[in-house]
Amino acid sequence: MPLLHVRGLGVRYDNDVLALEGVDLDLDAGERLAIIGESGSGKSTLARAIAGLLPPAATVEGSIAWPELGRVARNGRDIGFVFQDPGSSLDPVISVGAQVAEVVRVNLDMAWPAARRLAVELLDRVKLPEPALLAKAYPHQLSGGQKQRVAIAAAIAAGPRLLIADEATSALDTIVQAEIVSLIRGLVDEDGMALLFVSHDIALAANLADNIAVFRHGRLVEAGMTGEMIAAPVSDYTRALLDAHLGLDA
Ligand code: ADP
Repeated sequence: MPLLHVRGLGVRYDNDVLALEGVDLDLDAGERLAIIGESGSGKSTLARAIAGLLPPAATVEGSIAWPELGRVARNGRDIGFVFQDPGSSLDPVISVGAQVAEVVRVNLDMAWPAARRLAVELLDRVKLPEPALLAKAYPHQLSGGQKQRVAIAAAIAAGPRLLIADEATSALDTIVQAEIVSLIRGLVDEDGMALLFVSHDIALAANLADNIAVFRHGRLVEAGMTGEMIAAPVSDYTRALLDAHLGLDA
């Protein structure tokens, strides 16, 4: 029984852009799936549709079901969502510890002092230095990589079954990007979370994912196991993506 079962998913925005069409996708518990494609291919729309974060004016068809949960998954509780820009997902006037504690309080129904303690533990889990001290800092006092670690701590705070990282490392320098990828890998391994890793960079995603789904113009072009797809892509589009990214690294 899959954790997530998507059938015939289509999304149209109110400007009449058809962002996704006829998408079928399954995700097992603990599976790490990369969603790959160029900018505008519908990756973010898919991630947001799954997490229930589409704007209200978007029209959705098809189905998104959670067979293992037996109910609709809740963002924050069952799903942890990490956005590209931690600067905009964190509140500038609230300390980072209080922001993580708020996620804990709301989703786990925990009293404030216990939530604060758990927040410090979570900041430690995402390998931030001196977490008790850092909890009192405000986002502008942190580097981009540190802010993304805080956003990840908030995303995993309620012990979700699925972590969605939507271009979560794309705004970071290469070295910080590698550190955040390694952090995400460690956390999903430790907690047995499933991972949806949304990226335009197939080489980066291949480091992390068991399986890859390639999107183009809102449609699923090709899906398969990472090793097989890298070795022998079926579609010309996937081959072009691979040549572009592997070529740059060579
Ligand atoms: P990706 O994540 O692959 O870059 P998106 O899912 O963001 O792709 O976008 C898919 C298409 O939907 C694009 O044409 C984009 O311009 C459009 N789009 C995305 N978000 C919105 C929105 N909130 N309102 C209208 N159009 C949107």
